[in-house]
Amino acid sequence: MYFYLVVDSTKHQGMRRHLVEQLRNKGITDERVLSVIAQIPRHLFMDSGFESHAYQDKAFPIAAEQTISQPYTVAFQSQLLEVKPNHNVLEIGTGSGYQTAVLTLLEAVVFSIERQHKLYRYSMRQLPKLGYRPKKLVFGDGYKGLPDHAPFDRILVTAGAKEVPKPLLEQLAIGGRLVIPVGTGTQEMILFVRKSAKEFEKQTHGTFRFVPMLEDKN
Ligand code: SAH
Repeated sequence: MYFYLVVDSTKHQGMRRHLVEQLRNKGITDERVLSVIAQIPRHLFMDSGFESHAYQDKAFPIAAEQTISQPYTVAFQSQLLEVKPNHNVLEIGTGSGYQTAVLTLLEAVVFSIERQHKLYRYSMRQLPKLGYRPKKLVFGDGYKGLPDHAPFDRILVTAGAKEVPKPLLEQLAIGGRLVIPVGTGTQEMILFVRKSAKEFEKQTHGTFRFVPMLEDKN
């Protein structure tokens, strides 16, 4: 008797192609980002109860009262980040691990921090199980960044920050990009490009809504 587990199916792949078309229509143009989204089984990062909704362009609840970001938001942030192969990338807010998987398929060396232990444990198990290999998953407070592994070519914050944490600006390589939603309630998507040791260029890229970035709970 053969026993095997179907993790992904042609039905799911079809729904993903449809999702990618929606993202294109909403203005996502980065083909590398779109191709990665077409490959990742988002339904396997969510509670099985949401499986039939996994390829709608919506955020959904995950454990610890957090959410898996809306695919458009994941695509938008990933596009703004401009990840190149072998970039050292720091993500704050591992959550379900879905965005982490996106970054690994963009061929980055990925470090990701999560402050909810339940979610940290989940992504520690789920990412390798699905074949994604971030360099390091960390349980801790992302406000502090990860000084031992800095500088980072790219830093991505996937929770809404009240203000821009100084350590994250400090841990950005010269020429590096930090993408961070800033604000309470709704957030402005802000891109910082580090021009030199002391100079940062700041751009704003529209309004989004994230769960809050909270300080230390450990
Ligand atoms: N990238 C995730 C988004 C999850 S929501 C996904 O697509 O699934 C944002 C996550 O940020 C939550 O899991 C929340 O627990 C986490 N978070 C909030 N404040 C944090 C902090 N200070 N340090 C690390 N993670 C934080």
